[in-house]
Amino acid sequence: MSSITQGSYPPVLQDAERERLVQVVKDWTVAHGLTVRPPPAIAGNDAEGILATSAPVTLFPSPFPKSCFEEAKAIQTTYNELYALISQDEEFLTEMVKEVAGGDEFIANLWNVHLRVKKEGYVQNLALGLFRSDYMVHQDDASLQIKQVEFNTIASSFGGLSTQTSRLHKHLAQHEYPLLSSSASATNLDLPSNDSAAGLAAGLRAAFDAYGPSTLGHPTCVLFLTQSGERNVFDQRHLEYALSSSGSVPVFRLPFSEILTHTTIASTPTRQLLYTLPSNPSLVFEVAVVYLRAGYGPGDYPTQEAWEARYQIERSNAVCCPTVLTQLAGMKKVQQVLATPEESNTNSVPSALAKFMSPESEKTHRLLKTFTNIYPLDTSPSGLHARSLATSPTQCQKYVMKPQREGGGNNFYRSAIPEQLKTIPEEHWNSFILMEIIEPPALANSILRSGKVEQGGVICELGVYGTCLWDQRNGEVKFNEEAGYLLRTKGDKSEEGGVAAGYGCMDSVALV
Ligand code: ADP
Ligand code: MG
Ligand code: MG
Repeated sequence: MSSITQGSYPPVLQDAERERLVQVVKDWTVAHGLTVRPPPAIAGNDAEGILATSAPVTLFPSPFPKSCFEEAKAIQTTYNELYALISQDEEFLTEMVKEVAGGDEFIANLWNVHLRVKKEGYVQNLALGLFRSDYMVHQDDASLQIKQVEFNTIASSFGGLSTQTSRLHKHLAQHEYPLLSSSASATNLDLPSNDSAAGLAAGLRAAFDAYGPSTLGHPTCVLFLTQSGERNVFDQRHLEYALSSSGSVPVFRLPFSEILTHTTIASTPTRQLLYTLPSNPSLVFEVAVVYLRAGYGPGDYPTQEAWEARYQIERSNAVCCPTVLTQLAGMKKVQQVLATPEESNTNSVPSALAKFMSPESEKTHRLLKTFTNIYPLDTSPSGLHARSLATSPTQCQKYVMKPQREGGGNNFYRSAIPEQLKTIPEEHWNSFILMEIIEPPALANSILRSGKVEQGGVICELGVYGTCLWDQRNGEVKFNEEAGYLLRTKGDKSEEGGVAAGYGCMDSVALV
């Protein structure tokens, strides 16, 4: 495996070799569902909705330090436990929401859904998290270290496509790379297996089983709440197929905008969520698990009715993945507070982290090592320091400013920070956090996107999936697993890395 570090990887391709590889990847991706629905420019001519196209993908798996990969996987169940604990700490989340809600109506509205359900009493105590913790490799002198970009608690995507990407690269390593004229560096690649689709499905399955049979005599089901016009539908389908084949679990997809049309709450004290199959209204299912692949941003809530729909889900007896509280636990504000040490002792374990995890434990210290500097933009001493960094034309170059949003395309980078702050009333600056930009070591690769090969410097972001089922009332953790990984790669000139947002592409790791 040392060959990969010698600068000759990925191998240089002759034109004919590149053409062959591109053809193989085009066909393999479609044949194995490593696909997305086409972008609007192409989909405009697809009135029947029959077209699918290859997801953007690298021609070679990117080199990734083995120690970093193994550490990220090893600490995932600890991260799962931490976020399950945060979700249960309503007092802590109240504080977090208070910090940001003034300048953030979306968060305020989400919080309101929780308060309404709390008032009448939650009927379901179980909560399910399908999480993804994202990292970049940071080079510190001689040592390489994973640094957390963010922790996702809602709609963590690409687990379905990720398994297929690992398989694609294994296929290429076995059948294609050996045919290259300069193949030496691409033989004997260390390509770990990646069971993200099965792993995430296992989490959904655990919640489905824990829900048990309907007491109303209906068949039970899992309901995927989706966005209308979702292009990343095959990623979701892979999870559905893995789940439904794991012992005949009925799985349905329902657009978030149609919740109130096709679901009702039973008029019983347990408030079961009932789903009427639109294609055959005589079939009524009791929803055991609601899996949100929508509802994470304001775009899904254009009207008050959409908030009523979210309220209907939250107050029902279905196990929510995620609940509103779990969604809020994923706020960038929470990540910042966990990572910000006390002014008085910057070497101590931040008190917010110590609230949830023993400051002496090895686990805590392993998580701490993955934190990078994140600051509030409030009027605390640390916030004032961050404000001076954010408004300085030179200092701001090292930072990214983030609002409490998910799904990519919401952050402000470097010079854009002071400009953006000028447009926001100062009393609302605390709705954002300021984070140091992680700069991973330079790598090269080729990305196949829309049939064209883009070659050059790339930046990789590793995501590790985790599944966790717990009882919100007594904290009992019923299921806690690490569930495979995602590697996303983007051109090194691009700030954002989201595949769905059109910036990044699918990749897999070649461990070095
Ligand atoms: P979202 O929840 O919208 O995905 P992220 O915090 O993951 O928001 O930011 C989006 C992208 O921006 C990331 O995938 C990454 O490419 C880039 N990014 C975010 N934070 C950092 C950081 N601290 N250092 C380097 N890149 C970052
Ligand atoms: Mg996110
Ligand atoms: Mg992200």
